[in-house]
Amino acid sequence: MSTLQQTYPLSYWEREVFFKDIDVIIIGSGIVGLSAALSLKEKAPKLKVVVLERGSLPIGASTRNAGFACFGSMTELLDDLESRPEQEVWGLVERRWQGLARLRKRIGDEVMRYEEVGGFELFRPGEEAAFEKCLENRQVFNQRLKEITGHPEVFKAEDRQINNFGFKGVKHLIENQVEGVIHTGKMMEALLKKSREAGIQLFNGVGVETLELNEPGVRLKTEQGWSINAQQVLVATNGFAATMLPELAVKPARNQVIITHPLQGLPFRGGFHYDRGYIYFREIDGRVLLGGGRHLDLNGESTTDFGETDLIQEHLLRLLNEVILPGRSVSIDQTWSGIMGVGQEKAPILKRLNEGVVVAVRLGGMGVAIGSLVGEEAAEMVIGGESDV
Ligand SMILES: Cc1cc2nc3c(=O)[nH]c(=O)nc-3n(C[C@H](O)[C@H](O)[C@H](O)COP(=O)(O)OP(=O)(O)OC[C@H]3O[C@@H](n4cnc5c(N)ncnc54)[C@H](O)[C@@H]3O)c2cc1C
Repeated sequence: MSTLQQTYPLSYWEREVFFKDIDVIIIGSGIVGLSAALSLKEKAPKLKVVVLERGSLPIGASTRNAGFACFGSMTELLDDLESRPEQEVWGLVERRWQGLARLRKRIGDEVMRYEEVGGFELFRPGEEAAFEKCLENRQVFNQRLKEITGHPEVFKAEDRQINNFGFKGVKHLIENQVEGVIHTGKMMEALLKKSREAGIQLFNGVGVETLELNEPGVRLKTEQGWSINAQQVLVATNGFAATMLPELAVKPARNQVIITHPLQGLPFRGGFHYDRGYIYFREIDGRVLLGGGRHLDLNGESTTDFGETDLIQEHLLRLLNEVILPGRSVSIDQTWSGIMGVGQEKAPILKRLNEGVVVAVRLGGMGVAIGSLVGEEAAEMVIGGESDV
Protein backbone atom coordinates (compact mmCIF):
# COMPACT_ATOMS: atom_id res chain seq x y z
CA MET A 1 0.00 0.00 0.00
CA SER A 2 1.29 3.48 -0.79
CA THR A 3 2.36 5.22 2.42
CA LEU A 4 0.80 8.46 1.16
CA GLN A 5 -2.67 6.96 1.30
CA GLN A 6 -2.32 5.49 4.76
CA THR A 7 -3.96 7.04 7.76
CA TYR A 8 -2.09 6.77 11.03
CA PRO A 9 -2.35 8.06 14.60
CA LEU A 10 0.16 10.62 15.84
CA SER A 11 2.81 9.36 18.22
CA TYR A 12 3.09 10.78 21.72
CA TRP A 13 6.29 12.58 20.62
CA GLU A 14 4.72 14.11 17.53
CA ARG A 15 1.75 15.40 19.45
CA GLU A 16 3.86 16.75 22.33
CA VAL A 17 6.38 18.54 20.13
CA PHE A 18 4.47 19.75 17.11
CA PHE A 19 0.80 19.97 17.94
CA LYS A 20 0.43 20.86 21.62
CA ASP A 21 -0.99 24.17 22.94
CA ILE A 22 -1.62 25.70 19.54
CA ASP A 23 -3.16 29.16 19.65
CA VAL A 24 -4.03 29.52 15.96
CA ILE A 25 -4.13 27.02 13.10
CA ILE A 26 -4.27 28.46 9.60
CA ILE A 27 -5.50 26.08 6.91
CA GLY A 28 -3.87 26.86 3.54
CA SER A 29 -0.46 28.40 2.85
CA GLY A 30 -1.29 30.63 -0.11
CA ILE A 31 -0.77 34.37 -0.04
CA VAL A 32 -3.72 34.85 2.35
CA GLY A 33 -2.75 32.12 4.82
CA LEU A 34 0.90 33.20 5.00
CA SER A 35 0.08 36.92 5.16
CA ALA A 36 -2.35 36.24 7.99
CA ALA A 37 0.24 34.11 9.82
CA LEU A 38 2.85 36.88 9.53
CA SER A 39 0.38 39.56 10.63
CA LEU A 40 -0.57 37.44 13.66
CA LYS A 41 3.06 37.11 14.70
CA GLU A 42 3.65 40.84 14.16
CA LYS A 43 0.66 41.72 16.34
CA ALA A 44 1.09 39.02 18.99
CA PRO A 45 4.60 37.48 18.83
CA LYS A 46 3.93 34.97 21.62
CA LEU A 47 1.13 33.16 19.78
CA LYS A 48 1.88 29.62 18.64
CA VAL A 49 0.82 29.76 14.98
CA VAL A 50 0.69 26.61 12.87
CA VAL A 51 -0.04 26.51 9.13
CA LEU A 52 -1.40 23.27 7.65
CA GLU A 53 -1.06 22.87 3.89
CA ARG A 54 -2.41 19.93 1.95
CA GLY A 55 0.08 20.20 -0.91
CA SER A 56 3.80 19.50 -0.95
CA LEU A 57 3.88 23.16 -2.01
CA PRO A 58 1.10 25.70 -1.55
CA ILE A 59 -0.83 24.24 -4.44
CA GLY A 60 -3.86 26.36 -5.29
CA ALA A 61 -3.48 29.73 -6.97
CA SER A 62 -0.66 31.61 -5.24
CA THR A 63 2.25 29.69 -6.79
CA ARG A 64 0.47 29.16 -10.14
CA ASN A 65 -0.78 32.62 -11.15
CA ALA A 66 0.38 35.05 -13.83
CA GLY A 67 1.92 37.61 -11.50
CA PHE A 68 -0.13 40.65 -12.51
CA ALA A 69 -0.14 43.29 -9.79
CA CYS A 70 -3.45 44.64 -11.08
CA PHE A 71 -6.50 46.25 -9.54
CA GLY A 72 -9.06 46.38 -12.38
CA SER A 73 -9.09 47.09 -16.12
CA MET A 74 -11.53 49.68 -17.51
CA THR A 75 -14.00 47.21 -19.05
CA GLU A 76 -13.99 45.11 -15.90
CA LEU A 77 -14.69 48.13 -13.70
CA LEU A 78 -17.45 49.30 -16.05
CA ASP A 79 -19.00 45.83 -15.88
CA ASP A 80 -18.80 45.84 -12.09
CA LEU A 81 -20.44 49.27 -11.95
CA GLU A 82 -23.42 47.90 -13.84
CA SER A 83 -24.18 45.31 -11.18
CA ARG A 84 -22.77 46.72 -7.94
CA PRO A 85 -23.04 50.05 -6.07
CA GLU A 86 -20.36 52.59 -7.03
CA GLN A 87 -19.04 52.84 -3.49
CA GLU A 88 -18.50 49.09 -3.32
CA VAL A 89 -16.66 48.96 -6.66
CA TRP A 90 -14.23 51.79 -5.83
CA GLY A 91 -13.91 50.50 -2.27
CA LEU A 92 -12.68 47.17 -3.64
CA VAL A 93 -10.22 48.91 -5.98
CA GLU A 94 -8.87 50.82 -3.01
CA ARG A 95 -8.49 47.63 -0.99
CA ARG A 96 -6.54 46.00 -3.84
CA TRP A 97 -4.27 49.05 -4.01
CA GLN A 98 -3.72 48.98 -0.25
CA GLY A 99 -3.04 45.24 -0.31
CA LEU A 100 -0.42 45.68 -3.00
CA ALA A 101 1.28 48.41 -0.95
CA ARG A 102 1.47 46.00 2.01
CA LEU A 103 2.89 43.19 -0.15
CA ARG A 104 5.53 45.52 -1.62
CA LYS A 105 6.50 46.75 1.83
CA ARG A 106 6.70 43.26 3.31
CA ILE A 107 8.62 41.56 0.50
CA GLY A 108 10.44 44.43 -1.23
CA ASP A 109 10.18 45.25 -4.94
CA GLU A 110 13.58 43.87 -5.80
CA VAL A 111 13.03 40.52 -4.09
CA MET A 112 9.77 39.78 -5.88
CA ARG A 113 10.87 41.58 -9.06
CA TYR A 114 7.98 44.04 -8.94
CA GLU A 115 8.08 46.29 -11.99
CA GLU A 116 5.57 49.00 -12.81
CA VAL A 117 5.64 48.24 -16.53
CA GLY A 118 2.01 49.18 -17.18
CA GLY A 119 -1.06 47.09 -17.92
CA PHE A 120 -2.73 47.20 -21.33
CA GLU A 121 -6.26 46.29 -22.32
CA LEU A 122 -6.60 45.15 -25.94
CA PHE A 123 -9.73 45.83 -28.01
CA ARG A 124 -10.57 43.80 -31.14
CA PRO A 125 -12.31 45.24 -34.23
CA GLY A 126 -15.76 44.16 -32.95
CA GLU A 127 -15.23 45.85 -29.59
CA GLU A 128 -15.51 49.45 -30.78
CA ALA A 129 -18.51 50.21 -28.53
CA ALA A 130 -16.72 48.95 -25.42
CA PHE A 131 -13.68 51.06 -26.31
CA GLU A 132 -15.82 54.19 -26.83
CA LYS A 133 -17.49 53.62 -23.47
CA CYS A 134 -14.06 53.47 -21.85
CA LEU A 135 -13.07 56.77 -23.48
CA GLU A 136 -16.30 58.41 -22.26
CA ASN A 137 -15.60 57.32 -18.68
CA ARG A 138 -11.85 57.84 -18.68
CA GLN A 139 -11.82 61.25 -17.00
CA VAL A 140 -14.14 60.22 -14.19
CA PHE A 141 -12.19 56.99 -13.63
CA ASN A 142 -8.89 58.87 -13.60
CA GLN A 143 -10.27 61.28 -11.02
CA ARG A 144 -11.37 58.40 -8.77
CA LEU A 145 -8.06 56.62 -9.22
CA LYS A 146 -6.09 59.77 -8.52
CA GLU A 147 -7.74 59.84 -5.10
CA ILE A 148 -6.71 56.21 -4.54
CA THR A 149 -3.27 55.97 -6.17
CA GLY A 150 -2.10 59.59 -6.29
CA HIS A 151 -1.32 59.19 -10.00
CA PRO A 152 -2.78 62.02 -12.13
CA GLU A 153 -3.66 59.92 -15.18
CA VAL A 154 -3.97 56.19 -14.58
CA PHE A 155 -5.82 55.23 -17.80
CA LYS A 156 -4.57 56.45 -21.16
CA ALA A 157 -5.41 55.48 -24.77
CA GLU A 158 -2.24 54.05 -26.34
CA ASP A 159 -3.21 52.93 -29.87
CA ARG A 160 0.14 54.02 -31.25
CA GLN A 161 1.80 51.18 -29.31
CA ILE A 162 -0.09 48.47 -31.23
CA ASN A 163 2.45 48.44 -34.06
CA ASN A 164 5.43 48.63 -31.71
CA PHE A 165 4.13 45.62 -29.82
CA GLY A 166 3.56 43.76 -33.10
CA PHE A 167 -0.02 42.60 -32.38
CA LYS A 168 -2.39 41.61 -35.17
CA GLY A 169 -6.18 41.98 -35.10
CA VAL A 170 -6.05 44.56 -32.31
CA LYS A 171 -7.79 47.87 -32.91
CA HIS A 172 -7.22 49.81 -29.69
CA LEU A 173 -5.16 49.77 -26.51
CA ILE A 174 -5.82 51.41 -23.16
CA GLU A 175 -2.91 51.57 -20.75
CA ASN A 176 -3.14 51.48 -16.97
CA GLN A 177 0.07 53.34 -16.15
CA VAL A 178 0.39 52.14 -12.55
CA GLU A 179 -0.18 48.44 -13.12
CA GLY A 180 2.82 46.20 -12.46
CA VAL A 181 4.03 42.63 -12.66
CA ILE A 182 5.86 40.43 -10.17
CA HIS A 183 7.74 37.14 -10.18
CA THR A 184 5.13 34.97 -8.47
CA GLY A 185 7.61 32.28 -7.42
CA LYS A 186 9.96 34.79 -5.77
CA MET A 187 7.05 36.40 -3.93
CA MET A 188 5.88 33.10 -2.48
CA GLU A 189 9.42 31.95 -1.70
CA ALA A 190 9.92 35.18 0.28
CA LEU A 191 6.62 34.77 2.16
CA LEU A 192 7.55 31.19 3.13
CA LYS A 193 11.02 32.28 4.24
CA LYS A 194 9.64 35.14 6.33
CA SER A 195 7.09 32.82 7.92
CA ARG A 196 9.77 30.36 9.00
CA GLU A 197 11.95 33.19 10.31
CA ALA A 198 9.00 34.49 12.33
CA GLY A 199 8.70 31.12 14.10
CA ILE A 200 5.52 30.05 12.31
CA GLN A 201 5.32 26.26 12.03
CA LEU A 202 4.48 25.11 8.52
CA PHE A 203 3.38 21.55 7.81
CA ASN A 204 2.95 20.36 4.24
CA GLY A 205 1.09 17.24 3.22
CA VAL A 206 -1.60 17.79 5.87
CA GLY A 207 -5.13 18.23 4.56
CA VAL A 208 -7.93 19.21 6.92
CA GLU A 209 -11.14 17.29 6.48
CA THR A 210 -13.51 18.69 9.14
CA LEU A 211 -13.70 21.34 11.84
CA GLU A 212 -15.79 21.12 14.96
CA LEU A 213 -16.15 23.34 17.99
CA ASN A 214 -14.65 21.63 20.99
CA GLU A 215 -14.92 23.93 24.02
CA PRO A 216 -12.74 25.88 24.57
CA GLY A 217 -11.38 25.64 21.02
CA VAL A 218 -11.71 23.86 17.71
CA ARG A 219 -10.95 20.26 16.81
CA LEU A 220 -9.57 19.59 13.32
CA LYS A 221 -9.68 16.15 11.75
CA THR A 222 -7.02 15.68 9.12
CA GLU A 223 -7.07 13.62 5.94
CA GLN A 224 -4.24 11.63 7.54
CA GLY A 225 -6.66 10.32 10.16
CA TRP A 226 -5.47 12.21 13.25
CA SER A 227 -7.07 15.15 15.01
CA ILE A 228 -5.56 18.21 16.67
CA ASN A 229 -6.90 21.18 18.62
CA ALA A 230 -6.39 24.92 18.48
CA GLN A 231 -7.93 27.89 20.22
CA GLN A 232 -8.72 29.57 16.90
CA VAL A 233 -8.75 28.45 13.27
CA LEU A 234 -8.46 30.53 10.12
CA VAL A 235 -9.67 28.88 6.91
CA ALA A 236 -7.65 30.28 3.98
CA THR A 237 -8.35 27.59 1.40
CA ASN A 238 -9.88 29.87 -1.26
CA GLY A 239 -11.20 27.82 -4.22
CA PHE A 240 -11.24 24.63 -2.13
CA ALA A 241 -13.21 26.15 0.76
CA ALA A 242 -16.63 24.75 -0.12
CA THR A 243 -15.40 21.16 0.26
CA MET A 244 -15.01 21.73 4.00
CA LEU A 245 -17.62 24.47 4.43
CA PRO A 246 -20.33 23.98 1.76
CA GLU A 247 -22.39 26.89 3.10
CA LEU A 248 -19.80 29.40 1.79
CA ALA A 249 -20.65 31.18 -1.49
CA VAL A 250 -17.36 30.35 -3.18
CA LYS A 251 -16.75 28.15 -6.20
CA PRO A 252 -13.54 26.81 -7.71
CA ALA A 253 -12.47 28.29 -11.06
CA ARG A 254 -9.60 26.61 -12.84
CA ASN A 255 -7.28 28.70 -14.99
CA GLN A 256 -4.90 27.17 -17.53
CA VAL A 257 -1.53 28.69 -18.37
CA ILE A 258 1.15 28.17 -21.03
CA ILE A 259 4.68 29.54 -21.22
CA THR A 260 6.92 29.66 -24.29
CA HIS A 261 10.62 29.00 -24.51
CA PRO A 262 12.69 32.23 -24.47
CA LEU A 263 12.32 34.25 -27.68
CA GLN A 264 14.76 36.67 -29.30
CA GLY A 265 13.71 40.34 -29.34
CA LEU A 266 10.26 40.09 -27.80
CA PRO A 267 8.64 43.43 -28.79
CA PHE A 268 6.57 44.06 -25.64
CA ARG A 269 6.67 44.22 -21.86
CA GLY A 270 3.85 44.80 -19.39
CA GLY A 271 0.67 42.95 -18.46
CA PHE A 272 -1.95 42.49 -21.19
CA HIS A 273 -5.69 41.84 -20.80
CA TYR A 274 -7.70 40.46 -23.71
CA ASP A 275 -11.33 39.45 -24.26
CA ARG A 276 -12.73 41.32 -21.22
CA GLY A 277 -9.91 40.06 -19.01
CA TYR A 278 -10.65 36.36 -19.54
CA ILE A 279 -7.30 36.08 -21.33
CA TYR A 280 -4.07 37.57 -20.03
CA PHE A 281 -0.44 37.51 -21.14
CA ARG A 282 2.89 39.04 -20.23
CA GLU A 283 6.60 38.82 -20.79
CA ILE A 284 8.77 37.01 -18.22
CA ASP A 285 12.47 36.14 -18.66
CA GLY A 286 12.16 36.73 -22.42
CA ARG A 287 9.21 34.30 -22.67
CA VAL A 288 5.49 34.83 -23.16
CA LEU A 289 3.24 33.59 -20.36
CA LEU A 290 -0.37 33.34 -21.51
CA GLY A 291 -3.39 32.12 -19.58
CA GLY A 292 -7.12 32.12 -18.93
CA GLY A 293 -9.91 31.19 -21.29
CA ARG A 294 -12.23 29.64 -18.71
CA HIS A 295 -15.15 31.56 -20.29
CA LEU A 296 -14.97 29.02 -23.14
CA ASP A 297 -16.20 26.31 -20.77
CA LEU A 298 -17.39 27.88 -17.51
CA ASN A 299 -18.95 24.66 -16.23
CA GLY A 300 -16.01 22.45 -17.10
CA GLU A 301 -13.56 24.87 -15.47
CA SER A 302 -15.58 25.05 -12.22
CA THR A 303 -13.44 22.32 -10.75
CA THR A 304 -10.80 21.75 -8.09
CA ASP A 305 -9.03 19.24 -10.37
CA PHE A 306 -5.77 20.43 -11.86
CA GLY A 307 -5.41 19.72 -15.55
CA GLU A 308 -5.56 21.11 -19.07
CA THR A 309 -8.12 20.71 -21.83
CA ASP A 310 -7.70 20.70 -25.62
CA LEU A 311 -10.39 23.35 -26.05
CA ILE A 312 -8.61 25.96 -23.95
CA GLN A 313 -5.05 25.00 -24.81
CA GLU A 314 -5.82 25.22 -28.54
CA HIS A 315 -7.51 28.60 -28.07
CA LEU A 316 -4.50 29.97 -26.18
CA LEU A 317 -2.12 28.66 -28.84
CA ARG A 318 -4.18 30.21 -31.62
CA LEU A 319 -4.09 33.61 -29.90
CA LEU A 320 -0.37 33.30 -29.41
CA ASN A 321 0.26 32.50 -33.08
CA GLU A 322 -2.30 34.79 -34.66
CA VAL A 323 -2.60 37.85 -32.39
CA ILE A 324 0.34 38.10 -29.98
CA LEU A 325 3.29 36.87 -32.04
CA PRO A 326 1.89 36.68 -35.59
CA GLY A 327 4.20 35.09 -38.13
CA ARG A 328 6.79 33.91 -35.60
CA SER A 329 7.67 30.36 -34.86
CA VAL A 330 7.05 29.77 -31.16
CA SER A 331 7.53 26.65 -29.07
CA ILE A 332 5.82 25.93 -25.76
CA ASP A 333 7.99 25.02 -22.79
CA GLN A 334 5.39 24.25 -20.09
CA THR A 335 1.69 24.20 -19.35
CA TRP A 336 -0.07 24.11 -15.97
CA SER A 337 -3.26 25.11 -14.20
CA GLY A 338 -4.28 26.66 -10.90
CA ILE A 339 -7.52 26.93 -8.94
CA MET A 340 -9.03 30.30 -8.02
CA GLY A 341 -11.99 30.96 -5.71
CA VAL A 342 -14.83 33.00 -7.24
CA GLY A 343 -18.48 33.87 -6.58
CA GLN A 344 -21.35 36.13 -7.63
CA GLU A 345 -19.73 38.94 -5.67
CA LYS A 346 -16.15 39.98 -6.28
CA ALA A 347 -15.31 40.98 -2.71
CA PRO A 348 -13.56 38.31 -0.64
CA ILE A 349 -15.51 36.50 2.07
CA LEU A 350 -13.95 37.57 5.35
CA LYS A 351 -16.00 36.65 8.37
CA ARG A 352 -16.17 34.87 11.68
CA LEU A 353 -18.24 31.69 11.42
CA ASN A 354 -18.38 30.99 15.15
CA GLU A 355 -16.34 31.64 18.29
CA GLY A 356 -13.49 29.46 17.02
CA VAL A 357 -13.42 29.82 13.23
CA VAL A 358 -12.68 32.73 10.86
CA VAL A 359 -12.74 32.38 7.06
CA ALA A 360 -10.85 34.46 4.47
CA VAL A 361 -11.59 33.06 1.00
CA ARG A 362 -12.91 33.93 -2.52
CA LEU A 363 -9.95 36.03 -3.62
CA GLY A 364 -10.98 36.03 -7.30
CA GLY A 365 -8.53 36.99 -10.01
CA MET A 366 -6.74 39.80 -8.16
CA GLY A 367 -5.48 38.04 -5.05
CA VAL A 368 -1.90 39.14 -5.64
CA ALA A 369 -3.00 42.70 -4.92
CA ILE A 370 -5.64 42.25 -2.22
CA GLY A 371 -4.29 39.07 -0.55
CA SER A 372 -1.97 40.77 1.96
CA LEU A 373 -4.70 43.10 3.18
CA VAL A 374 -7.21 40.26 3.53
CA GLY A 375 -4.59 38.28 5.47
CA GLU A 376 -4.01 41.21 7.80
CA GLU A 377 -7.72 41.80 8.37
CA ALA A 378 -8.25 38.09 9.02
CA ALA A 379 -5.47 38.14 11.61
CA GLU A 380 -7.17 41.08 13.34
CA MET A 381 -10.44 39.17 13.36
CA VAL A 382 -8.78 36.08 14.84
CA ILE A 383 -7.18 38.11 17.62
CA GLY A 384 -10.00 40.53 18.23
CA GLY A 385 -12.88 38.10 17.94
CA GLU A 386 -14.80 40.53 15.67
CA SER A 387 -17.64 39.16 13.65
CA ASP A 388 -17.35 40.57 10.09
CA VAL A 389 -15.73 42.97 7.66
C1 LIG B 1 -3.70 30.59 -13.34
C2 LIG B 1 -4.01 31.73 -12.42
C3 LIG B 1 -3.59 33.01 -12.76
C4 LIG B 1 -3.84 34.06 -11.89
N1 LIG B 1 -3.30 35.28 -12.17
C5 LIG B 1 -3.39 36.28 -11.27
C6 LIG B 1 -2.70 37.50 -11.46
O1 LIG B 1 -1.99 37.66 -12.45
N2 LIG B 1 -2.87 38.47 -10.55
C7 LIG B 1 -3.64 38.29 -9.43
O2 LIG B 1 -3.77 39.22 -8.63
N3 LIG B 1 -4.25 37.13 -9.19
C8 LIG B 1 -4.13 36.12 -10.07
N4 LIG B 1 -4.74 34.93 -9.83
C9 LIG B 1 -5.51 34.79 -8.58
C10 LIG B 1 -4.59 34.69 -7.36
O3 LIG B 1 -3.55 33.80 -7.63
C11 LIG B 1 -5.42 34.25 -6.15
O4 LIG B 1 -6.46 35.19 -5.93
C12 LIG B 1 -4.60 34.14 -4.86
O5 LIG B 1 -3.41 33.44 -5.08
C13 LIG B 1 -5.44 33.45 -3.80
O6 LIG B 1 -4.65 33.21 -2.67
P1 LIG B 1 -5.21 32.33 -1.48
O7 LIG B 1 -4.16 32.29 -0.45
O8 LIG B 1 -6.55 32.81 -1.10
O9 LIG B 1 -5.48 30.91 -2.13
P2 LIG B 1 -4.49 29.74 -2.61
O10 LIG B 1 -3.22 30.27 -3.12
O11 LIG B 1 -5.27 28.88 -3.53
O12 LIG B 1 -4.17 28.96 -1.26
C14 LIG B 1 -5.06 28.05 -0.68
C15 LIG B 1 -4.25 26.90 -0.16
O13 LIG B 1 -5.09 26.07 0.64
C16 LIG B 1 -4.64 24.73 0.48
N5 LIG B 1 -5.75 23.87 0.86
C17 LIG B 1 -6.95 23.75 0.26
N6 LIG B 1 -7.74 22.91 0.94
C18 LIG B 1 -7.03 22.48 2.00
C19 LIG B 1 -7.34 21.60 3.11
N7 LIG B 1 -8.52 21.02 3.23
N8 LIG B 1 -6.36 21.39 4.04
C20 LIG B 1 -5.15 21.99 3.92
N9 LIG B 1 -4.82 22.83 2.92
C21 LIG B 1 -5.75 23.08 1.96
C22 LIG B 1 -4.30 24.63 -1.00
O14 LIG B 1 -3.44 23.54 -1.25
C23 LIG B 1 -3.68 26.00 -1.25
O15 LIG B 1 -2.28 25.98 -1.14
C24 LIG B 1 -4.56 33.85 -10.68
C25 LIG B 1 -5.01 32.57 -10.36
C26 LIG B 1 -4.74 31.51 -11.21
C27 LIG B 1 -5.21 30.14 -10.86
